[in-house]
Amino acid sequence: MSLDRALVAIDRACASGAVVRDVDVREAHSHDESEATPIVPEAVVRARSTEEVSAILAACHAHRIPITPRAGGTGRVGGAVPVAGGLVLSLEGMDTIRGVEADDLRAITQPGVVLRDLHDAVEAEDLFYPPDPNSLESCRIGGNLACNAGGPRAFKYGVTRNWVLGLQVVLADGTVLRVGKPTAKGVTGYDLAGLLVGSEGTLGVITEATLKLVPKPEGVATLLVFLPDQRTLGEAITATLRRRIVPRCLEFLDPLALDILRPQAGLDVPAAAKAMLLVEVDGDQGDLERQMEEVGGVMLDAGALDVLVARSGEERESLWAARREMSYAMRRQARRKLSEDVVVPRTRIGDLLERCSVLSEKHGVRVATYGHAGDGNLHVNFLWDDPADRPKVDAAIRGLMEATVEMEGTLSGEHGIGVLKAPYLPIEQPPALIALQERIKDVFDPRGVLNPGKIFPAGAKRFHGAC
Ligand SMILES: Cc1cc2nc3c(=O)[nH]c(=O)nc-3n(C[C@H](O)[C@H](O)[C@H](O)COP(=O)(O)OP(=O)(O)OC[C@H]3O[C@@H](n4cnc5c(N)ncnc54)[C@H](O)[C@@H]3O)c2cc1C
Repeated sequence: MSLDRALVAIDRACASGAVVRDVDVREAHSHDESEATPIVPEAVVRARSTEEVSAILAACHAHRIPITPRAGGTGRVGGAVPVAGGLVLSLEGMDTIRGVEADDLRAITQPGVVLRDLHDAVEAEDLFYPPDPNSLESCRIGGNLACNAGGPRAFKYGVTRNWVLGLQVVLADGTVLRVGKPTAKGVTGYDLAGLLVGSEGTLGVITEATLKLVPKPEGVATLLVFLPDQRTLGEAITATLRRRIVPRCLEFLDPLALDILRPQAGLDVPAAAKAMLLVEVDGDQGDLERQMEEVGGVMLDAGALDVLVARSGEERESLWAARREMSYAMRRQARRKLSEDVVVPRTRIGDLLERCSVLSEKHGVRVATYGHAGDGNLHVNFLWDDPADRPKVDAAIRGLMEATVEMEGTLSGEHGIGVLKAPYLPIEQPPALIALQERIKDVFDPRGVLNPGKIFPAGAKRFHGAC
């Protein structure tokens, strides 16, 4: 069988124990942190080096075996789920930070490094790597790169792509290449690093990244802004920006999210509050006070009920710990949850929230929202208990996608398309654009073995493998 032949080749090329066929390990690699249906792979292959990744991909290419890369498994759209069966390529073992080069302001890292560990290593040198998805305790650099992860600090500092200088990548046939530049600037040739980042493991496997760093901001302050209604949100954000203040985070919580956060963060929330903004500013100590005062004043002028300041490191940490728990806490509110991460221009965020209420009422589905309001990127959560309600949920989600695109928005701000959002891609992109991207996929992976069934609506049908 082709699969056995591929596994023999992989076994020969890799360190002993790389191929794991135990059922519990296979099951642990059948799902991610999404509602995508789990699919148990035939085997899990644990790579330790770029050479091993190259040999593994070459064997899969030769024998037409589907292979799905996986880093931390925290993805929200089923990206690491092996929907076409075959193998899962685990990159967890490639977890070395090769260097933090303070003078060149860059870090060189393998894809299996947990993001929190990279932050700690970089900050120990008084430097800063801003991307901070709320899964930072368990997601890994490879997954962040493949999904172009964002996070609360993206408002000021941008998303993962903005921090990538160069990548080492293995193509589907095993070819090893370096794309991008390890230098601060460089425009020679096409921006293939830019293309690889956000390609969700469908174009190549990233085995090393050179990431840009900046000096760590001297101080950080966090403000809690309580709003009487959701419409005040857009006005409060716009007013802050008009004052030429760019907070590093502007995180929004709707009434349900606020109720969830309240006990965990020990918050004294005014009874009339219907929404909350978590605002964080950073900079030199001297400038920090000014920014805090200005943001507080602007928010109160825009109609905020109250503004509190989290002064100590512990207060800030307990707030952020509760915020990072939000997704799991939301999940406990119902037997089932689907979370979308649409983006609209930030001036349309009030309209989007209104549309969410309308959709919730029309389809009889509970909807709760929170997220990166500064970027216009909201996590819209659909909650339900009875499996028979699923068609209503699907109709509400489609309504959300259509409304988002109507408002010049996009289906995903940071989670990617994966398998769960693939059916909605044609709402945003015309057939010619989808076809162009499919042709790019064919150039990188002509046999369609690398993470098949993702991004494109017809993706699953495009797999030409043997399993
Ligand atoms: C509680 C929670 C909070 C979250 N908050 C945020 C947030 O604030 N911002 C945000 O952006 N996301 C967030 N996410 C989503 C998720 O954590 C991110 O998408 C993250 O970047 C995924 O990383 P991972 O290591 O878990 O990747 P995985 O889930 O393992 O994989 C994700 C995708 O990357 C591909 N991949 C993995 N490694 C490689 C590689 N080396 N080369 C090529 N492809 C590869 C996989 O095939 C898959 O398609 C959150 C998730 C959870 C559960």
